Amino acid sequence: MDFKYSEEDEAFRHEFRAWLEANMPRDWRDDGELSDPDTKSEFERRRGWHRKLYDAGWMCIHWPREFGGRGATLMQQFIYHQELDRAKAPPVVNFQGIARVGPTLMQWGTPEQKARFIPKIPSAEEIWCQGLSEPNHGSDLAAVETRAVDNGDHFVVNGSKVWTSNAHHADFSTLLCRSDTTAPKHRGLSYLLVDLKSPGVTIRPLVQITGESGFNQVFFEDVAVPKANLVGQQNQGWMVAITNMMFERTIHGGRTDMMVEVRQLGELAKQVQYNGRPAIEDGYVRERIAAFACEAEGLKYTSLRQLTRQLRGLPPGPEGSVMKLGTTELNLRIQKFAMELLGPYSQFEYRAAKAIDRGKWSHRMLAARRGTIAAGTNEIQHNIIGERVLGLPKG
Ligand SMILES: Cc1cc2nc3c(=O)[nH]c(=O)nc-3n(C[C@H](O)[C@H](O)[C@H](O)COP(=O)(O)OP(=O)(O)OC[C@H]3O[C@@H](n4cnc5c(N)ncnc54)[C@H](O)[C@@H]3O)c2cc1C
Repeated sequence: MDFKYSEEDEAFRHEFRAWLEANMPRDWRDDGELSDPDTKSEFERRRGWHRKLYDAGWMCIHWPREFGGRGATLMQQFIYHQELDRAKAPPVVNFQGIARVGPTLMQWGTPEQKARFIPKIPSAEEIWCQGLSEPNHGSDLAAVETRAVDNGDHFVVNGSKVWTSNAHHADFSTLLCRSDTTAPKHRGLSYLLVDLKSPGVTIRPLVQITGESGFNQVFFEDVAVPKANLVGQQNQGWMVAITNMMFERTIHGGRTDMMVEVRQLGELAKQVQYNGRPAIEDGYVRERIAAFACEAEGLKYTSLRQLTRQLRGLPPGPEGSVMKLGTTELNLRIQKFAMELLGPYSQFEYRAAKAIDRGKWSHRMLAARRGTIAAGTNEIQHNIIGERVLGLPKG
């Protein structure tokens, strides 16, 4: 690994840092204080920030110029995220559209689909969600049962998708559905683009253990989807879904700087008592925090190794699965240890009066599980590492 940045990279960093300093209102800094992204007002606040970045040419920088991006190099993308973290920039919107749907359409879309759908993704004029998982099929995605029946110029869709993030804010959804019930399971699928305002679509939010409702169950009842919205070939949708999931795993494969969490844990240990003295002075507490810091640094270098591999044009290695597994499990252990430090205070709910750090730790504890499930569960990641990286026999 070479840790030096080129002059061009430094100039890029300087330009983006200066833009952030001039354009990001100070009261928009994301200081770890949680705001409920599921409310319309918070969503629109985030869309406002998103638009500001977009209007200045700082959105989707990794996209090719022909699709409205900057054609940024891998190193520039890395620097871009470092600077957003440094500035504590608030989140943007349309994550699924930008990270998955847009790139999938670039690869598989017809010229008409590209012209119609792609330009409105980076601008967040149209928000996307993705309809893959179903009540009975998540890890075994190729078994999905939502039906799409060929009816001449359109498909008639019936079925239901679940855990659909952001569907309540979305205008469109991708949809993996079964269009041939007689073919082997991977060969009878089609990948559609569905207008969520179509008659027959019902979106029902699901309340999570944190009290938020970022997920939905989406029902399709005799929904007409034009053939023009079929991506790839009819009954060949699995290939398109694989592309979509490759982007999903790459994105989840790491940029998370876990040291942010470890530092905040250190701050917490200064505030609370352990064995009758400030927790930060206790040997056991210090040892645990130091161990978390070592793991976080190890993960940081794993992600840099992944970046080096990409910069050298080498095929993806095991780092993506290792990062997904490592960051989500470390996060879970950090939150559990925060509960131990807080003792009875851990029972306070988020934003409860007298809760330490406004109760953010108990919220994080409850939220930490979702990372271990989203984008392929950690058990599935263990299987991938065991079978494909270590060459162990199938379990
Ligand atoms: C935060 C979050 C966001 C999400 N967003 C979306 C979204 O926008 N769109 C969407 O379509 N879906 C979304 N999902 C759903 C997610 O993709 C599924 O939850 C996930 O793929 C697991 O599927 P499942 O819930 O059906 O569990 P199942 O597949 O039923 O698994 C149940 C348990 O069995 C284990 N298991 C299953 N198969 C194996 C195996 N072969 N070996 C070992 N263990 C196994 C799993 O690890 C798990 O512990 C989201 C989930 C989360 C948590």
